[in-house]
Amino acid sequence: MTDYLSLARQLAPDIIAWRRDFHQHPELGFEEFRTAGIVAEHLQALGVETRTGVGQTGVVGVIEGASPGPTVLLRFDMDALPVPEETDLPFASQHPGVMHACGHDGHTAIGMAVARLLAQTREQWPGRVKLMFQPAEEGLGGAKAMVRDGLLKHPRPDAAFALHLWNQLPLGQLVVQEGPLMSAADHFEISIKGKGGHGAAPEDTIDAVLVGAEVVNALQSIVSRNVPPQDTAVLSVGSFRAGGAFNVIAERANMAGTIRTFDPEVRALILQRMQKVLTGITAAHGAQAIFDLKENEYTPAVINDASMAEIARTAAQKMLPPEQITEIRPLMVSEDMSEVFNRVPGCYVLLGAEPEGGARGPHHNPRFDINEDALPLAAAIMASIAVHFNRRQ
Ligand SMILES: [Zn+2]
Ligand SMILES: [Zn+2]
Repeated sequence: MTDYLSLARQLAPDIIAWRRDFHQHPELGFEEFRTAGIVAEHLQALGVETRTGVGQTGVVGVIEGASPGPTVLLRFDMDALPVPEETDLPFASQHPGVMHACGHDGHTAIGMAVARLLAQTREQWPGRVKLMFQPAEEGLGGAKAMVRDGLLKHPRPDAAFALHLWNQLPLGQLVVQEGPLMSAADHFEISIKGKGGHGAAPEDTIDAVLVGAEVVNALQSIVSRNVPPQDTAVLSVGSFRAGGAFNVIAERANMAGTIRTFDPEVRALILQRMQKVLTGITAAHGAQAIFDLKENEYTPAVINDASMAEIARTAAQKMLPPEQITEIRPLMVSEDMSEVFNRVPGCYVLLGAEPEGGARGPHHNPRFDINEDALPLAAAIMASIAVHFNRRQ
């Protein structure tokens, strides 16, 4: 077995330099023009067949091994967040209001390192490795856009893997587990129309604030009273807007929220109950309601395939002591790699990247940072997983 860990450690200065450059020049979802350009140039310089513009700003590279064999896909996301950076890093963001606050700068650099590791060892493994450099992971549907643009064709991957650096986990700890890892996410909006009027004459009005408040309350009974307690679900109303004056009864109330689930049946139950609750409460008051589920923003749950998790674990065991390979409770955040996993069996792993002295901010926080020592390890893990999958087929 090739010693990808030593090879990756030799690459560490390059990986760190790439990461810091991306960190300094963060780009939001579907605007990763500079980042994608650097990735594409790097792949081409390695002699890797490269496609750009896949899902707008996505890049796909295909590395051919020494002999025919399976195709394995590795995903690296590239987008930053609309978060103003508040770290004192010498390579802090130069773009006001935009920050790599989730570590995707690291992921892009890891992907470039994996490309180099696999290209330089291509005589030693069979099959193909497809590198997916994804735009717009942060809620904008970059994975779906790449799938729509033919990501999974020519060649179709037999397996898919992704890694996320996680600064809330100790450095070098790897989470590998089968089954649910991250929840599905839905975005809904509700708008209620009553009848506005004078605050002193409620009898002539239908108070949208009152109806809306009852709706919010009743929605909270769905998870607690309708979803079986063995199942996991969250329903949060994150925004409620109504009215504008202290002495006017509001005509409209608009709210928005998110639903998190793991099981499509639980999701269906919640959606059905939401409709019923909404119709019932508004009818009781003589108000009207529109329920708008943002179907095209739906992100399915990340469910790891058991045999793919086994492959990731076996590959990681060659470079990590057993106590560093762990499992966690599934996370209620979401991740659109599930769009790929719903079509190709796969496994998503988390690699601990806690900075020395502890994280100053979690993911998506203005003080977020990662431990760069995790970068070469991540590259070695991803390269090993790909080669291990292709060899054992
Ligand atoms: Zn994120
Ligand atoms: Zn992320």
